[in-house]
Amino acid sequence: MTTIRVAVCGASGNMGREAVKAIRGQDNLQLVGALDIKDSGKDVGLLIGNRPLGVEISSELEPMLCTSGAEVMVDFTAPAAVMEHIFTALKNKVPPVVGTTGLTEPDLEQIAAWVDKFETGAIIAPNFALGAVLMMKFSRIAARYFDQVEIIELHHEHKIDAPSGTAIKTAQMIDAEQKEDAARIRRARESSRPEEIEKISGARGGRYENIHIHSVRLPGMVAHQEVIFGGNGQTLSIRHDSMDRRSFMPGLLMAINRAPRLKKLIYGMENLIDF
Ligand code: NAP
Repeated sequence: MTTIRVAVCGASGNMGREAVKAIRGQDNLQLVGALDIKDSGKDVGLLIGNRPLGVEISSELEPMLCTSGAEVMVDFTAPAAVMEHIFTALKNKVPPVVGTTGLTEPDLEQIAAWVDKFETGAIIAPNFALGAVLMMKFSRIAARYFDQVEIIELHHEHKIDAPSGTAIKTAQMIDAEQKEDAARIRRARESSRPEEIEKISGARGGRYENIHIHSVRLPGMVAHQEVIFGGNGQTLSIRHDSMDRRSFMPGLLMAINRAPRLKKLIYGMENLIDF
């Protein structure tokens, strides 16, 4: 059995700590490096309530990647940091597995260009929960039969970006499915509704290609999404709830195992899994 050496960025954060625990639980994965802007010099084992693991939190990515001999870099940091991390990893031929959300379409184009330039693969997944991936896939199927849809995403109050990467990805998938029929669907949407007046700005949510997305931020939430399709006399709701951050780990581990052999950019777990 070959061992994959893994470094985790954002190792002090909620997802980073969960990723460290999950990696530690796998015989074929070895945690070799960790990065965060806080806790520099602390042993990651102590951060997850374990004995010291001999891996200290670094504050600089490139030296950490080079000295640790990491073969995969996992990133759960913040939108402002992630592009630089991806560039540094690819430049050092370490495939990044990125869960950090908030990446834009131009960001993804830039990453694809770096992947080609450095001939190193990358996996970007707005949602590693396999149930969420199925929710997106089922939504895409439903979009063939229902013209009108709105998305409600609900997350914990500390989430920085809105709407969530999962909501944007879902809207993109629905839009792609409806593209061929776009003109007819636009006409159907417009003819079935009066001209709207938003008495409070934003009341109807944000829009991706006319798909309304509503973002809720509340304590008690982890990551949840409901996709509601409406038709004549019927609605169809497709909902996924991540009640615990452990829900993201099977997908993350799958991505880590695939990353070393990749030579291209994979965006979205649905493109990694053969459903
Ligand atoms: P979090 O608890 O705030 O953790 C992020 C960690 O990264 C924090 O320790 C933060 O430090 C650190 N950090 C921020 N900027 C950094 C930098 N420049 N260099 C090094 N470390 C840096 O957030 P989280 O809940 O773990 O979420 C992290 C990301 O994962 C978010 O984008 C979230 O949306 C995403 N997420 C993805 C999935 C998925 O399945 N793909 C699931 C859940 C969450 P400070 O606290 O000091 O800022």
